[in-house]
Amino acid sequence: FFISFEGPDGSGKSTVLEQVVARIGPRLKTQYLVTREPGGSVIAEKIRQLILDPTNEKMAAKTEALLYAAARSQHMGETIIPALKSGKVIFADRFVDSSLAYQGVGRKLGIFPVKQINDFATSKIEPDLTLFLDVKPAVGLARIAKVRAGQKDRLEQEQLTFHEQVYQGYQEVKQAYPDRIKVVNASGPLEQVVEACVKIIANQIPT
Ligand code: C5P
Repeated sequence: FFISFEGPDGSGKSTVLEQVVARIGPRLKTQYLVTREPGGSVIAEKIRQLILDPTNEKMAAKTEALLYAAARSQHMGETIIPALKSGKVIFADRFVDSSLAYQGVGRKLGIFPVKQINDFATSKIEPDLTLFLDVKPAVGLARIAKVRAGQKDRLEQEQLTFHEQVYQGYQEVKQAYPDRIKVVNASGPLEQVVEACVKIIANQIPT
């Protein structure tokens, strides 16, 4: 069973994911795996560094989209597919929906071409369930500014208008996959967000 966590920068996604896994992991009947994108394998983590390096400000949008897809292909072959084959539950911090929202809409490449290169990268394997942590971009960015002043990665340095495009992209993606993507209000206290995620997951997989 493949679960992905999505959301704009500053949605608290990684912290929520960690706490959700701490709550639900020990209750699962099968083994589980926690992974993240871009990354989730040695080669994919190297590609992550290349993409997020703040000195690579000249990177073209298409290059960025292809690098994400390249990292994802490696992540699929090395990590996700073997885990799915051995019956594990996978918790992934971001997956293809991030590319559709960030590169497809944020970078204006279009959802369709970005979906196509990712279909090639993933052989069309999709998560069974996606939790979208919903927080308005202005709120998310304010959270990031508080936590890591001066140490933002290349994408976090983008202006609010870029992040608003990304948010709009996520709305389009949600409409395209209404059954798979569940929306969780992520503007409230961490504990409430974690609780909401745990409930949704427990409803879909036996614990
Ligand atoms: O989720 P995480 O903070 O690890 O993501 C790292 C950075 O990569 C973020 O700044 C996010 O905006 C960016 N990103 C992106 N396109 C993707 C995935 C992540 O721009 N497809």
